[in-house]
Amino acid sequence: MKSSAIAVSGLHKAYGDKVVLDGIDFEVPAGSVFSLLGPNGAGKTTTVNVLTTLMKADAGTARVAGHDVVTATKEVRAVIGVTGQFAAVDELLSGRENLRLMADLKRVRSAGQLVTRLLERFDLVESADKLAATYSGGMRRKLDLAMTLVGNPQIIFLDEPTTGLDPRSRRTMWEIVRELVAGGTTIFLTTQYLEEADQLADRIAVLSQGRLVAQGSPEELKRLIPGGHVRLRFSDPAAYRSAAAALREVTTDDESLSLQIPSDGSQRELRAILDWLDSVGIEADELTMHTPDLDDVFLALTEHTDNTNDTNKEAIAQ
Ligand code: ADP
Repeated sequence: MKSSAIAVSGLHKAYGDKVVLDGIDFEVPAGSVFSLLGPNGAGKTTTVNVLTTLMKADAGTARVAGHDVVTATKEVRAVIGVTGQFAAVDELLSGRENLRLMADLKRVRSAGQLVTRLLERFDLVESADKLAATYSGGMRRKLDLAMTLVGNPQIIFLDEPTTGLDPRSRRTMWEIVRELVAGGTTIFLTTQYLEEADQLADRIAVLSQGRLVAQGSPEELKRLIPGGHVRLRFSDPAAYRSAAAALREVTTDDESLSLQIPSDGSQRELRAILDWLDSVGIEADELTMHTPDLDDVFLALTEHTDNTNDTNKEAIAQ
């Protein structure tokens, strides 16, 4: 079994009266991408700050690479890289100089070669000798991430790495995250973008008002909420009518002779539908699945947090 790169238990943080983290728990297996997803102000940066030793929680524990973030600050800092909203980029230096400075700070051998490689990898060669102050937001973020990679940290925290980026730079970031994970790095990613979490994360935790309202793989989260359905299309009107009459909670479309049955898309439910069709001798011409996307999930979880169990699973009647 893979060890945990990050383990968080009962984390609590308030600013004065304002509770920002209200007891959160999660674990991140080594070599995976974990995404903390939440709207603005949900507490994502606060979580990153606690895990990266920049801030102390009021209660709870957090371990990074097995080290306690409060009592083993130095050990934690030695294994992590952080790319955040408070970028480490020095605007009065060029991109190349920023990278070189980082490489020297981390006492990297062959620093020159590493800097050249990173500039190429991040598509920053042309601007390498211009001051970072002249960089666009996207270039600055790329430089920031490039600086984070100096020294090959085992665990990388990316706090909203693609907020405000153009689509091309976003794709570059995603590719780099995938390469890093393929090389065994653990990524802790905060994002407001559902698509980003869907694309990159092995596991997603949804943070809303200081609590984790759901955790799971993108697919598991999509199955949590209503909106998924199986669509059966018939060419035989009689078969269509029989099926429509026998199935409960079905949406009918007389024109296309198709039926929509609410479903979580699990193997069990699909099998139940197919078994039922077989048992009554009805043949559908086409069966298609629709699973809700993360947008549906996110809205359901962050706006109606007390109403997430109503998944309407028993769609088939006798
Ligand atoms: P996110 O990263 O999800 O946008 P943050 O962790 O930055 O959220 O902030 C969570 C909440 O805590 C917000 O309401 C924010 O205004 C508040 N907050 C953050 N930092 C401080 C601080 N130093 N003092 C008081 N309130 C803060």
